[in-house]
Amino acid sequence: MNDFENELNRQLAALREQHLLRKPRRVDSPQAAHLEIDGRRLLNFSSNDYLGLANDPEIKQAAIDTVARFGAGTGASPLICGRLAPHAELEEALAAFKGTPAALCFSSGYAAALGAIGALMGRGDFIVIDKLVHASIVDAARLCGAKLRVFAHSDLESLTEILRWIDRQRSPVAPGTSVRRPRTLIVTESIFSMDGDRAPLRELVELKEKFGVWLMVDEAHATGIYGAARRGLIEECGLDGHVEIEMGTLSKALGASGGYICGSRALIDLLVNRARSYIFSTAPAPAAVGAATAAIRVVQSAVGAARRKRLKERIEQLAAHAGAHWRSAIVPILIGAEGRALTAAAELQSHGIFVPAIRYPTVARGAARLRVTLTAAHDRSDLEKLIEALAELLPTRAALPE
Ligand SMILES: *Cc1c(COP(=O)(O)O)cnc(C)c1O
Repeated sequence: MNDFENELNRQLAALREQHLLRKPRRVDSPQAAHLEIDGRRLLNFSSNDYLGLANDPEIKQAAIDTVARFGAGTGASPLICGRLAPHAELEEALAAFKGTPAALCFSSGYAAALGAIGALMGRGDFIVIDKLVHASIVDAARLCGAKLRVFAHSDLESLTEILRWIDRQRSPVAPGTSVRRPRTLIVTESIFSMDGDRAPLRELVELKEKFGVWLMVDEAHATGIYGAARRGLIEECGLDGHVEIEMGTLSKALGASGGYICGSRALIDLLVNRARSYIFSTAPAPAAVGAATAAIRVVQSAVGAARRKRLKERIEQLAAHAGAHWRSAIVPILIGAEGRALTAAAELQSHGIFVPAIRYPTVARGAARLRVTLTAAHDRSDLEKLIEALAELLPTRAALPE
């Protein structure tokens, strides 16, 4: 036992030394524009609750009503007996919202990535991911046994080179043999989680069509925000129906919890049979499912449009201050060294403002940053306070993105 503890303590000390030790804070209030932490009220610029729905009365009530009718737990995996009416309703609502033939809900976005990639890809196949995709996609790609290739961030030349290389590996399969041709899957996020920039989705679709490969897009940070119907960046780019696999989470702009995959009926039927994180995991809790279904309804309504307009106003307010033109609620302030990012976050906190320092392994070593997240729950004066505190912390505006 002592050896065990010593070994772990050695590892923890190494993390501390590199300014990489993490500890979850205890927050004594719901996710909202303000958080109560250690008895202090802080302005919150850390949450992915982009539309301010996590603590919305209508959505909370939907969760409460679903619990009242269907209970707290689901009892089993969806295939044993755990798929309840609220799950069916959520999947129908998701498919209708996203304009896809079918949808499947998972207990988290992480589980959706793991399940979908593991179901579709295996030994002998090729997965090509953007350098900055989320850890859930990296983990899924590693776990499924396919050959993993990484293209430079949103770099179409780098991707093309890899696709050409794969094309040369995939020798044609002689007719009549039982060997299957290796599959190739490109995976990208649409709005990147730690930088807030956009993937070149139209060009990615052109490339995957040219090379005859599949495309998976993670809309975690775009769902509810982009596109006329607020489906996401795929819709905004006019690419509905052109992406084989769309994944996302119910936990960001939708303010609930859980993950999803949207696509063809055949895709969803196959995932039900092959996605291990779906098959071997208890179905998502009724409260989360009820909240997510209500959030999808709210996002599509006039309330959703108004929330998005408010979010856009906040983005424009901060962009105007920085003399920049962002179109994203995610504003990274690059610091570099991990220790300096922690100090900057602590200074902001002493001004009553909570902005998290994002460090390795969430971003590369030496690319630590403050990640400011704007939401529809913020008002003009909240941002004025942030701008004032940033001005004090960052004497030049150069550190804000262009
Ligand atoms: C948050 C996130 C996920 C995981 O979703 P969870 O529901 O939190 O597990 C997947 N992809 C991206 C890009 C994310 O930001």
